Amino acid sequence: SAPDVARGRFAPSPTGPLHFGSLIAATASYLDARSLHGEWLVRMEDLDLPRQMPGAADLILTTLEQYGFEWDGPVLYQSQRDAYYQHALQTLTERGLTYPCGCSRKEIADSAATGIDGLVYPGTCRHGLAGKHARAWRVQVNHQPTQFQDRVQGEISQLLSRDIGDFVLKRADGLFAYQLAVVVDDELQGISHIVRGADLLDSTPRQIFLQQALGYATPAYLHVPVAANAAGEKLSKQTLAKPLNSRYKVADLWRVLTFLGQSPPDELYHQSLSEVWQWALQHWQPARIPRQRAIPIQVRHAE
Ligand code: GLU
Repeated sequence: SAPDVARGRFAPSPTGPLHFGSLIAATASYLDARSLHGEWLVRMEDLDLPRQMPGAADLILTTLEQYGFEWDGPVLYQSQRDAYYQHALQTLTERGLTYPCGCSRKEIADSAATGIDGLVYPGTCRHGLAGKHARAWRVQVNHQPTQFQDRVQGEISQLLSRDIGDFVLKRADGLFAYQLAVVVDDELQGISHIVRGADLLDSTPRQIFLQQALGYATPAYLHVPVAANAAGEKLSKQTLAKPLNSRYKVADLWRVLTFLGQSPPDELYHQSLSEVWQWALQHWQPARIPRQRAIPIQVRHAE
């Protein structure tokens, strides 16, 4: 499924309307793909129904349109793709890489060490459920470093067995985990260039591990800094980031370009949407993106 052209994607979770933080990821992935004369897809990561806001997916697409984004092909909805995720889980199981886990949250919390992204599951159920009933499905990670070269953040290396532990592919509530779904969809959609927020940098080795276990290609990765508030927290619905208002689309895009180190000229702030996009495409330089995981910005709170 590898395309002849570069192919990027924006993969929002419809937990709320787009805000300045999500506009950064959308813009960076769009400019990266288009400046390579590639395609750009939108995928709705709507697996986690309990966390969703009704109507958010449509709102996100409308906002993208208002800001001048043009995507290729139909929008993919993860909520309709369980069969593909199940098939990948089965493949991993046939390869002897998965096991059912019967541990409760509390049992794990009582026995696990803290890793770089939460608790490191100690492998309790790796050799059998010991009478417990299966709740989740985990993948057994290895003891070799998983490494990649991020186009902005440089060399990233994790020892999954120490830093992450055997992670969940299918949750106790029956939902497929983000880590599995994203790997399956990036492969089946032929994504060659992944550009997204650096809050996902620590997830990437898990995704590369799964790609290798499934025999998939590994795309190129570029992680842009995330916008944070003064307390260093990522802008999100939880930190009350204000929804985008398309009245300010040119100013917002100008601020995103500035955030991404692209130094748009002052005059651009007062020009048309198409002039902003034209400038951005002609001047897109990934090498100028700050090599940081988070950058504080002036937060405009929801009113
Ligand atoms: N859906 C994820 C998010 O909104 C992004 C996934 C990705 O880009 O890989 O945080």
